[in-house]
Amino acid sequence: MRALVTGGAGFIGSHLCERLLKDGHRVDVIDDLSTGCLENIYSLTSNKNFTFVNDTILNRMMMYTLIDKVDMIYHLAGAVGVQLIVDEPVRTIETNIRGTEVVLEVALKFRKKVLITSTSEVYGKSENESFKEDQDCVLGATTYSRWSYACSKAIDEFLGLAYHRQYNLPVVLARLFNTVGERQTGQYGMVIPRFVQASLLGEPLTVYGDGKQTRCFAYVRDVIDGLLALANDPTAYGNVYNIGATEEVAIENLAAMIKEMTGSNSQIQYIPYEQAYGKPFDDMVRRMPNLEKISKKVGYTPKTSLKETLQIIIDYFRKKMENEL
Ligand code: UDP
Repeated sequence: MRALVTGGAGFIGSHLCERLLKDGHRVDVIDDLSTGCLENIYSLTSNKNFTFVNDTILNRMMMYTLIDKVDMIYHLAGAVGVQLIVDEPVRTIETNIRGTEVVLEVALKFRKKVLITSTSEVYGKSENESFKEDQDCVLGATTYSRWSYACSKAIDEFLGLAYHRQYNLPVVLARLFNTVGERQTGQYGMVIPRFVQASLLGEPLTVYGDGKQTRCFAYVRDVIDGLLALANDPTAYGNVYNIGATEEVAIENLAAMIKEMTGSNSQIQYIPYEQAYGKPFDDMVRRMPNLEKISKKVGYTPKTSLKETLQIIIDYFRKKMENEL
């Protein structure tokens, strides 16, 4: 099989490419390196089954050439990271909506299968204990940039489902919850790489708000298992599935855990959201996936515990820092 991975030089994309190659597939990547980087795929470039194209998915001609050649498209390209969304709202909205439009339009022309990655952000401010795919999206005011990301990804979902309904195009949607692992950068706001790097450098760990907000962090390789299982099940198409983990942790406890596991004497500092993001900011108090749907469909369950995941990330950053010295 030959696959196109949009955003393949990103954190999750690079893990997906690695796995597809390992499973014996041919992999083409298109990435404009806006948030991804060549370093993520450096080890793959010597593989004869791997091709990298440095271009935007908004380049329709390029997308025609690429999509014509493959059997399956994994659409991961998009603007991600809370910090980036707050700093560059126009780019976020445009890349997410136009990019998905191009992918679906060209996929339809050649009748290719598409998996679109979406995000748990689409659940918005719901205060449910865990989030189920068919529940309402509770988005905040348009004056908060954060919700433009949620809204743009919700449009991507609407589009994907519409192409399936109206044209019978095989499209499946994966709503990813907090995903972490090697190669994720803290540059766009993600909490675990930020806390791990700060701990290893002896710098303060900054907890936003009161630190009581909780998240469930899934290890990227478990998430890839879920993505592949969905892509390989024809009966999953035309539907939306949560992928993530269900081990919940409060951000202040996460900071304490990382500090302890790294043996760091960094301070844990609390700062208000306004100070962290430079603007008023709406955060979610908790965010846990309900995994019944994907588990029933393809037998997905996350395998790696939070502690194991943190250890992998700590080891990764330790090694990276040693190499950079
Ligand atoms: N956060 C934090 N300190 C940081 C970065 C993030 O306290 O340096 C908090 C953030 O406000 C959120 C949680 O950690 O409540 C997870 O943030 P992340 O950006 O990783 O993912 P989100 O769930 O917000 O998409």
